[in-house]
Amino acid sequence: MKLFKRKEDAESVKESSSSEETGETCDVAGCSEPAHRAISAKNVAKAGLNVKKERGKAHLCKEHYKEYKKATKKDRELERLGR
Ligand SMILES: [Zn+2]
Repeated sequence: MKLFKRKEDAESVKESSSSEETGETCDVAGCSEPAHRAISAKNVAKAGLNVKKERGKAHLCKEHYKEYKKATKKDRELERLGR
């Protein structure tokens, strides 16, 4: 059940493939990079990123996804127990 951490890592490595969100752009205010991942907007906002929407999925570019992951790491101490 701790596999999803690994999955995230794997997905950030293979940068080319996971572009299911073709045509979408980053939902962080002021950013217009192509979307890399879609994350629950609520979680993104909680991570301290300035997303333009509050519900549904927010699209994050690679950079902001990285920021999101960094920001959530602190909250996810539990994950470390599984590594
Ligand atoms: Zn962005």
